[in-house]
Amino acid sequence: MKNVRVRFAPSPTGPLHIGGVRTALYNYLFAKKNNGTFILRIEDTDQTRYVENAEKYIIDALNWCNIPFDEGPNKNEKFGPYRQSERKDIYQKYATELVNKGKAYYAFDTAEELDFHRKDHEEKGKTFIYNWHNRAKLTNSISLSKEEVEKRIANGDKYVIRFKMLDTINEGEHNLISTSDLIRGHVSFKTELLDDKILFKSDGMPTYHLANIVDDHLMEISHVIRGEEWLPSLPLHIALYKAFDWEAPEFAHLPLILKPVGKGKLSKRDGDKLGFPVFPLAYTNTETNEVSRGYREDGYFADAFINMLALLGWNPGTEQEIFSLNELCEAFSLDRVSKSGAKFNPDKTKWFNQNYLQKKTNKELATLFEPILIEKGINSNTNYIEKVVSLIKERATFVQDFWSLSDFFFVAPIEYDAKAVKKQWKESTPDLMKELINVIEEISDFNSETIENNIKEWITSKEIGFGKVMQPFRLSLVGALKGPHLFDIAEMIGKPETIARIKKAINTL
Ligand code: GLU
Repeated sequence: MKNVRVRFAPSPTGPLHIGGVRTALYNYLFAKKNNGTFILRIEDTDQTRYVENAEKYIIDALNWCNIPFDEGPNKNEKFGPYRQSERKDIYQKYATELVNKGKAYYAFDTAEELDFHRKDHEEKGKTFIYNWHNRAKLTNSISLSKEEVEKRIANGDKYVIRFKMLDTINEGEHNLISTSDLIRGHVSFKTELLDDKILFKSDGMPTYHLANIVDDHLMEISHVIRGEEWLPSLPLHIALYKAFDWEAPEFAHLPLILKPVGKGKLSKRDGDKLGFPVFPLAYTNTETNEVSRGYREDGYFADAFINMLALLGWNPGTEQEIFSLNELCEAFSLDRVSKSGAKFNPDKTKWFNQNYLQKKTNKELATLFEPILIEKGINSNTNYIEKVVSLIKERATFVQDFWSLSDFFFVAPIEYDAKAVKKQWKESTPDLMKELINVIEEISDFNSETIENNIKEWITSKEIGFGKVMQPFRLSLVGALKGPHLFDIAEMIGKPETIARIKKAINTL
């Protein structure tokens, strides 16, 4: 294979949707798998949609996901600049080259004129397409004389440069543009309905199409891996490569990410409705001050998020679901990317996080839990936090679940679950609890096993059901009928605290 160079080419129009992150990820994986280069190019030629903090957001998101680019703005800029707004002159030169080759032309039609044609066609039940059908009848360098064109340009009249669509292929012989896509196989497009796309706008900026293919060529991009929504642009891009006499890169159009329920593309609204983020990082819209949730802020681990995204449209051909980033780089290939859309599954996303959480060491988790504890005003030692984590983590999906699963390890209950109290705290309970305190007082080696043995022995000798003691005991220590092995809790909080909590329950309930 030739030197693999792939690019992720977002337009900085807002935060990156997870579909965009997946495109970046597949480019990254493909590059790493093939010892290639992963490039970030900022496609900011549409000034009307430009959003100030979007580029920073995109870069922060790639970094959080652990998929940094090798070349891009301010990094190994050997094919730079990597921001299209800084490459204006380059595009102008290439647009003019196409005009000189007779593959593109100047068009002077005003917005009002084009609007008139559109309406006029509509009234006749037709659709107006600016192309080989009617270009000779419109106001451009094909219909006007050379002198007139020169005069208009010298005059400062506004013009655009349009691509002369059909002329780029063997006219008459066929009206199809065919190529092959690495995911979809053979694809062909009828050309007769394609319009003469604007390549260069009157504001001195190229359109996406021109800038995109010029840059892919100049940056020596070997494979274009992008979303399916760009497939309709493919015939134009192929035609442009032909017009320039350039070799086109290979193309791979990724399937859509679909809504969890219903049909169609996953949107932010689905996330809002069903309660999950569609962005990697939280995002504040500076105009509306609207804050959108992010996977990072919702407590997802980047590696779990990436693992989930990798499998959204690609499969390894085996049952394996858990992949580290390195394993993904090894296993990834475009021929296992599916043609059909991939349904987003928020529960599965949580499942991945839970899975990654279980695999993290208690030490790592304790480090993540510590700031939450400090915020609650609790200063505990790291060893103790680690032990707590080891006892409760199997019930957690996120680190932020830890507090509600473990608060009783740090503070005595303030309230008691009323339903449980009603059911388990009987008239005879206070006396039993007083006896329990005596039993506990006697235990010298206060560890889970000894506590369990002593208490069970005492319950057996009394010939009463275990629940009669154990449920109120749990209520006293935890405040509810939840939590890990009760004797572990007792060992952790220690003998004086265990006794104090039982006393408190006797006095309160
Ligand atoms: N700027 C386009 C986008 O926003 C890039 C499409 C492509 O990869 O060619 O997705």
